[in-house]
Amino acid sequence: MSEGTAPGTRPRVAAAIVPAFDQMTVTVRPGSDVVARMPGVLLVTRPAETEEGDRALRVVLDLLATSAQGGIRAPGYRLGRALRTLIEHGAAPADLALVAATDDGLAVVLAGAGAIAVSERGWRLACVSGRVQVREIDWPPAPLLLDLARPAAESGQGTPEPRPARPFDLREGVVPGNGAILASPPSPTATPELGAGLQPSAPRETVDMLLASPTPPSRCDQILGVDPLGGPRPALPLPVTGQDCAESGSGTRVRGYRCRDAHLNDPRALFCAICGIRMAESTGVFVEGPRPPLGLLVFDNGASFSLDDNYLLGREPDIDERVRTGRLRPLVLFDTSGVISRRHAEIRLEDWDVLLVDCGSANGTLVAERGATVWSALVPGQPVRMLPSMQVRIGERSFVFESLHGAP
Ligand SMILES: [Zn+2]
Repeated sequence: MSEGTAPGTRPRVAAAIVPAFDQMTVTVRPGSDVVARMPGVLLVTRPAETEEGDRALRVVLDLLATSAQGGIRAPGYRLGRALRTLIEHGAAPADLALVAATDDGLAVVLAGAGAIAVSERGWRLACVSGRVQVREIDWPPAPLLLDLARPAAESGQGTPEPRPARPFDLREGVVPGNGAILASPPSPTATPELGAGLQPSAPRETVDMLLASPTPPSRCDQILGVDPLGGPRPALPLPVTGQDCAESGSGTRVRGYRCRDAHLNDPRALFCAICGIRMAESTGVFVEGPRPPLGLLVFDNGASFSLDDNYLLGREPDIDERVRTGRLRPLVLFDTSGVISRRHAEIRLEDWDVLLVDCGSANGTLVAERGATVWSALVPGQPVRMLPSMQVRIGERSFVFESLHGAP
C-alpha cells in the first residue's frame, strides 16, 4: 500500500501520527517464552533452546525490525507472507503466534502451538494439526490474547494457573513471557463499552491519516436498523495495488482483454478497472492471465477484504473442512447479536463473477441491490451474482461489495 499525500500538500513526517495498533497496550504474562513488540506487530514464540533455536528467533526478530522500518503503517500483509515462507522452510521457530496491523484490521500468523483468543467472547483460533495459519481478521471487539499451548508434559495436574498479566504496557522490545494481551488503552473520553473493547481509538484526523487509513473503525452496531437506502456507506478504501494482486492472488487464471497498459480486464467491462482507459481502444486480443482481485468487501466498521480468493464468512468458519484444507479463506464475523451462524455464507469467485451463497444459516443472509428499498433473503445453497454496490446483511453486520472489474 502506498501512503498517498493529497496533491499540493507537503508530505508529513510519518512519526507525527501514531497508528492505531501502536496506541494499543500490551501486557505480558510471566513465563519463559518470548514476547516481542515492534511498531505494528506483536509476537509470542517459543524458540528451541539450542543454537539453531536462537538463530531462528533472530531471523524472525530481524524480519519484524525490518518491517517496522520506514514508517510502514500496515506491515501485516507483507509480514504474513514472509513469515509463512520462513516457517515452511523451517527457518523460524516452530511455535509462534503473531498479530500485525493491516490497513483496517489484523494479520494473524499461527504456527505449531500458537493460538489467539478473545476470551470475553469465547473465541479462539489455533493451528489445525500443526498447519501454519495466515489470516486477516477484523479488529476483535475485546482484548486479544496471544499464547502458545503448553506441551503435554507441562500441562498435567499440579501446574499452577498462569498468574494474571501485570498492568505493565510493553511499548517496544523483546522480553520473556508466556503470552501477551493486546487491548485498548484506557481512554477518559471513550464510553465504557468502547473502552472495554479492542477498537482502536479514532486516529487524529489529519489529511495524511485520512488518506492512509480510509475509515476509522466505528462501532458495529451503527448498522442496526438502517434500511438499504439510508445505510451509512463507508469510504472506499485505497485500491489494491497491482503488486499486491500479483503476490496475493489465488493463482486462478481467467480470460479477458488487456488494456493499452496491459491490465487484464473482464471482457464485459467498458473501461479498464485499473487505469480507467476505454477498453474499445484496446487491441482486442482475448488473452489468459492471472485473475486480479475482483473488488472489495467493505464492512460496516471500515474493514475491507480484497476479493482475490473464496471466503467463508461466519462466527467460526474454521470448523469447515474447506477452510482447513485451504480451499476457502475464513472471514470471522464477531457477533454481538447471537444470530450469526458458525458457517454463515460463502463468497465464491467464478471467472470474473463474485457469487454469494447462504450456507443454510439459521437466520439467513439478506441482500439489497443498489437502489433497492427492501432487503431480500437468499435461498440457502443458491448462489447469486453480486452486483456493484450490493449490500449484504448478516445478523447485525453488513458489508458492501465494491466492484473493481464487474460488468454493469
Ligand atoms: Zn488499464
